[in-house]
Amino acid sequence: MKLIDASPYPHSIYILRSALESEGIACTLNNENLSQLSGEVPVTSCYVEIYVADEFEEKAFVIRDRLRGSEPGSVPLWTCQSCQEEIEEQYDICWNCEAVKP
Ligand SMILES: [Zn+2]
Repeated sequence: MKLIDASPYPHSIYILRSALESEGIACTLNNENLSQLSGEVPVTSCYVEIYVADEFEEKAFVIRDRLRGSEPGSVPLWTCQSCQEEIEEQYDICWNCEAVKP
């Protein structure tokens, strides 16, 4: 199995799951029921994870990226010229090295 995505928000994983299933790709969710425990366990351990069979990995990533690209909240990125970090458009300073947006 290959991990395709992980999110603290089960809803975004469910959207991905239905997109994958509509393409005929079966997937498996992990930690689905742990997400309600947020606050009692370390946050990263209650990320909902979605896996697909190895042979579907490439296709699943394409679908994931297509979904992400169409998310209303997705923002353009700029690349820091000093450290090559990708920064969201609304920030004028690199969070990593504090270089100013070119
Ligand atoms: Zn930087």
